[in-house]
Amino acid sequence: MSDPTGPKYGFETLQIHAGARPDPATGSRQTPIYQSTAFVFRDAEHAAALFNLQEVGYIYSRLTNPTVAVLQERIATLEGGAGAVCCSSGHAAQIMALFPLMEPGRNVVVSTRLYGGTVTQFSQTIKRFGWSAKFVDFDDHAAIKDAIDDDTRAVFCEAVANPGGHISDLDAISAISDAAGIPLIVDNTTATPYLCRPIEHGATLVVHSTTKYLTGNGTVTGGCVVDSGKFDWAANDKFPSLSQPEPAYHGMKFAETFGPLAFTFHGIAIGLRDLGMTMNPQGAHYTLMGIETLSLRMERHVENAKKIAEWLETDPRVDYVTYAGLPSSPYYKLIDKICPRGAGALFTFAVKGGYEACVKLVDNLEIFSHVANLGDARSLIIHSASTTHRQLTAEQQKAAGAAPEVVRVSIGIEDADDLIADLDQALAKSTS
Ligand SMILES: *Cc1c(COP(=O)(O)O)cnc(C)c1O
Repeated sequence: MSDPTGPKYGFETLQIHAGARPDPATGSRQTPIYQSTAFVFRDAEHAAALFNLQEVGYIYSRLTNPTVAVLQERIATLEGGAGAVCCSSGHAAQIMALFPLMEPGRNVVVSTRLYGGTVTQFSQTIKRFGWSAKFVDFDDHAAIKDAIDDDTRAVFCEAVANPGGHISDLDAISAISDAAGIPLIVDNTTATPYLCRPIEHGATLVVHSTTKYLTGNGTVTGGCVVDSGKFDWAANDKFPSLSQPEPAYHGMKFAETFGPLAFTFHGIAIGLRDLGMTMNPQGAHYTLMGIETLSLRMERHVENAKKIAEWLETDPRVDYVTYAGLPSSPYYKLIDKICPRGAGALFTFAVKGGYEACVKLVDNLEIFSHVANLGDARSLIIHSASTTHRQLTAEQQKAAGAAPEVVRVSIGIEDADDLIADLDQALAKSTS
């Protein structure tokens, strides 16, 4: 068999084959878990070439590992990127994406509609590095443009945004970041490359929490940064770590040396080397297993989410449903352009009876699990205002789509009728 990993193959073929080849040592068809910290150099010359980045190979698993490398190539291929770096979690991926771009005093312009943990990471924790985030309503394109200043080094949003499943108009947003000469970073966790391909809509970098749909069964945490390879880091003087001699790698100019792979090599040679947010090979194995069935799962996730959102919308105990796959959603018209295979399986709905009713609903469900997670094969529910978005002010909660009367669901791939029956009985108990 020739190499079934090239661009002429369809998504369903690539999700199984991209990046993987039969193991050269044993012929093993499944990608082995290379549970090894270090890799033996052929000789001193080989070792020196690896450390000089003149030859690509394996040195030490904080930097690169053959199992993790297969996952990197697979995700890069599915996203249509030039390269990818996996790391220990989605939050690690966000820091890894920003790290080469930022310096003390620089800022990133970000959407108000983000995963709750990301709001906290960006509004609080990155300040310790001297970085800051400016939160803007990303439906207001003029506001994004106005927020970008001389110190802005990136624009950041989610393709299908937490918690309400709102869709970002990536073409319009990337036109703004392009005009400012800065990269657009898109968190594609909730859509996955099966539903949305941000690079085709102008994204420079795509970040993932592989913890969610890519793994698909709630077993391991992981993250990934995919580089489109299309951004010219040397076009202006804003990105000296990539365009100028990098003091952390004996003066190497990454953009000049690696061209479209500059960001990826920087992520490994400096990001993983010095920040150490490494994915382990066992974790990569679980995620590779998950990706093999990504398209099948996403189709069912979307089908179930649509059925359930439609049912909820007509239920008198429910005030409103935010699913972008409903014709009543203001984001419905963006589906064909941004995520033609469906609007994902994450949305919120408002329960009549407010905060109290939401808490009771969550406590009375039998199939849905009450957890702070999404993208599992199982259906999950959370009352964001009392959990993930608890650290936020009332105003931030509302802007984020996590008001007190709202619950967020991540619809799984179980029998949709069973899920509807479960919601029906719990709504009866919570609103009576
Ligand atoms: C979960 C999640 C993250 C954070 O990922 P971890 O793997 O939990 O660190 C970031 N963005 C989105 C959209 C997420 O769902």
